[in-house]
Parts: sequence; structure tokens; C-alpha cells
Amino acid sequence: MGQTEQLITRAAEDLINARYAIALTGAGISTESGIPDFRGPSGIWTRDPAAERRAYLSYERFLDDPKSWWQESMTGRGPGLGNLWDMKPNAGHMALAELGKAGIIRCIITQNIDALHEKAGSMRVLEYHGSFMKLRCMSCGTRFFREQFDIERLRKEDALPPRCPNCKGILKSDTVSFGEPIPSDVAHESISEAESCDLMLICGTSAVVYPFASLPSIARQRSGVIIIEVNAEPTALTRDGISDYLIRGKTGEILPAIVAEIGRLKK
Ligand code: NAD
Repeated sequence: MGQTEQLITRAAEDLINARYAIALTGAGISTESGIPDFRGPSGIWTRDPAAERRAYLSYERFLDDPKSWWQESMTGRGPGLGNLWDMKPNAGHMALAELGKAGIIRCIITQNIDALHEKAGSMRVLEYHGSFMKLRCMSCGTRFFREQFDIERLRKEDALPPRCPNCKGILKSDTVSFGEPIPSDVAHESISEAESCDLMLICGTSAVVYPFASLPSIARQRSGVIIIEVNAEPTALTRDGISDYLIRGKTGEILPAIVAEIGRLKK
């Protein structure tokens, strides 16, 4: 048996024995759906470092002038992730959804804004960096689906930014910009999950974006917690010994292999 196969069996056993397992996911789990990541070998920012600097300015621009921010966001110069409405979950998302239905993975905390875990059928998903499908009120924090607002009509009527139907606060895309605080509801729930789990399965993240990247360290503080990484390459978590082991490879191949191995072991 090769090293990868041995680690897949180890992960399957660890998941079967876990009392409360959760998954953390990043852009890497969605690359096999055709959505580029930022920092992988062919990531958007690896190829175009200036795009990273522009992204860091976006939130300040929103605070300074929300109307211009909305007008610019309609010109299609987004973060370069493609048309997320058309994207479909891949075998990695489906495997995590299956682990959810089997009662093994209790919660997914994702950095992704692409809504592919929901499309795959996962029930409890905390969207740490928000969802491209939603808008969020900057005053009361309520989220709304984008379709509830005719942004093009508001632009034509010179009525941007859109306003919250509840409190008239300014609406922004729910996706959390660099420099923007994580919404408090999802931040608190994520910390509580990291404090409760006895297994954390971390998939497709370089784990350099904070505060998300602190969740594994929160789990690591308690003895007996198992932290497994599935990633194409070693990460800061691998190098700093935060994870117990790394299964190196594609999430679209490794995660279904873990599901299959759980099925075999449970027979
Ligand atoms: P990242 O780009 O920093 O890191 C992705 C990691 O996944 C890299 O280590 C890469 O080697 C690995 N990877 C790529 N494809 C893989 C595969 N098929 N299987 C296994 N590993 C693979 O991503 P991040 O850590 O999530 O941070 C990027 C930030 O940008 C996040 O905050 C996220 O919100 C946002 N983002 C989201 C999307 C999305 O919603 N799909 C896409 C790009 C960026």
C-alpha cells in the first residue's frame, strides 16, 4: 500500500471514531469545478500580484463611496472567479455532503463564496467570507438574496446603493472584503465549532487568510483533537505542526476515496 492509501485509511478510521467532526474548506476544493484559487501555483494572484493589491483597497473604497463601489461592481471587473451562477459542485463537495448525510461531518466552515457546498446538498454550512448570492446590511447585518433587488433599475434611477428593507442601512455584497471584519454571527459560530470538535478535516486552503486561519490553532489547543489536511501542497499548518498529517493530492480524488474507505471499513 502506498503512503497516500495508508493516510486515506487512517483518515477514514479517524472519521469513524470521531465524536464531532467538522470540515474547513478553501478555494482549493473548488478549483476542480473550474473556479481558480488565489495562491495555488496557477492562482489568480500568483499570476497577477497587482490584483491582490487592488483587492485590499476594495473595502476602503466601499466605505468612502458606496455608490461608486456599486457602479464599479456592475462593470464586471470582479475578482476574476468567472460566472459563479453556472458553476457546479465537484466530487470533493459531493463527498463532504455524503459525510454530512452519514452524520460524520457535522458542520462545514468555508472560506468560499461560491455556494457550491449548498448546491452539493450539505446542510450546515457557515460561509465565513459570505456568499456571492447574497447582500448584507452594513447596519443591522440582515442578509438578503441578490434577486430580491433590481440593481440595474436602481442604477438607471440613480438610486444606488441598495438599502435594507428593514432599517434602511446600506447594503453591500455579503462577500467579506479584505480589511472588512468577519460578520459577528458567523465568527462566533465558527469559534464555537472549532472549540467543540474533536476532528477537523481541512480541505484546499493555504491557511494564510486570518482570522479564518486561526480556527485550526483554536482546535489544536485541546488535547486529543485530530487535524487532517487534504491539500495539493504543504501549507503553513503542515509546516507549523498544527495539522497531524497531510494527505497530499486533489480534494476531488482524496475525499471520495475517504468516503469509499469508510464504506469498506463499516461493512
Ligand atoms: P488559496 O488560494 O490561498 O489556497 C488554495 C490552496 O488549495 C492552495 O494551497 C492550493 O495548492 C490548494 N489547491 C488548489 N487546488 C486544489 C485541489 N484540487 N485539491 C487540493 N488542494 C488544492 O485559497 P484560500 O486559502 O481559500 O484563500 C483564498 C481566499 O479567497 C479565501 O478567503 C476565499 O474566500 C477567497 N476565494 C474564494 C474562491 C471561491 O469561492 N471558490 C476562490 C478564490 C478565492
